[in-house]
Amino acid sequence: MISRVKLRIMQKLLLISFLLAITGCSDKSNPESLVVYTSRQPQLIEPLFEQYTKETGIKIVLLSGDAQQLLERINSEGETTAADLFITVDAGVLWQAAEKGILAQVDSELLDRRIPNYLRDPDNQWFGLSKRLRTIVVNDIGLIESPETYEDLSSEKWKNRLCLRTSQKVYNQSLIASLISNIGEDQAIKVVRGWVNNLSTKVFSSDTLALKAVQAGQCDATIVNSYYLGRLLVDDEGTNLNLVWANQGSTGVHVNISGGGLVRYSKKSEAAINLLEWLTSEWAQEKYAYLNLEYPVVQGTKIHPILESWGSFKEDDLNAKLLGALQRDAVLLARKTNYD
Ligand code: FE
Repeated sequence: MISRVKLRIMQKLLLISFLLAITGCSDKSNPESLVVYTSRQPQLIEPLFEQYTKETGIKIVLLSGDAQQLLERINSEGETTAADLFITVDAGVLWQAAEKGILAQVDSELLDRRIPNYLRDPDNQWFGLSKRLRTIVVNDIGLIESPETYEDLSSEKWKNRLCLRTSQKVYNQSLIASLISNIGEDQAIKVVRGWVNNLSTKVFSSDTLALKAVQAGQCDATIVNSYYLGRLLVDDEGTNLNLVWANQGSTGVHVNISGGGLVRYSKKSEAAINLLEWLTSEWAQEKYAYLNLEYPVVQGTKIHPILESWGSFKEDDLNAKLLGALQRDAVLLARKTNYD
């Protein structure tokens, strides 16, 4: 005969094992799976997560989509969201995520040590995982003098010689935000107005189209994220294009980031932080940057040979948070200067 007490204990044990089965979680730091909402292209991030699963047994479920839609989704799902991490591109988007209150503060000695200050949120809500440098690319054929700064491209010398991507792309909004912060609004207006006056053609919808226009001789210079030139070079295209690190004598080249943060509603925060930290490990940093020809955030990480060929350079160490905080002003400035 089983005593009542024993029966109760058995019932309790059964209940506990049932709860463990449905949550699939026997240890909060080592769950079966983590969910990542990301606007980074899946092929750039899947190989990393496959490796993580191999190393830890933790499966990563990806929900890919447009950054704004993912932000809205997490916001409306609230406590019920499945998202543990939000990974995206552009400092402006990360800033928005923090502003909407969907990210949690993460105190990680490891992240603080590995990621330079200017590439992470001062309140520890998001962390840069790769650097994206927006700089000048010129067609070197028949070019007597190369521009050296973003400001140079606004001078008369470049009349009808400039191609640009639309200001509706957040990359350009972040670049304009950095100008506002570095040289003040009045000077930034002058620079952007100068660019618009110097355009040889309508603005383009992508950095690649702008590069191809330079390559075809439609214009002599443009401003793009360096990895777009890298992609052309990998395919043996774009060999008549030259990269110029902008503003080396002053602020340094404009730096944007891809990055991520812990979703405030995550029920597996310990494990999610582990994953975030793992993304700054040597192996992950090299792979993360390499896959898209971006620059790692952790110093000393090996970089792609194409990036090596571009040499070292001075970076603008403006905190990435400012790029988000000044985004609205940047959009208004673009409108004021008729930069489409
Ligand atoms: Fe891009």
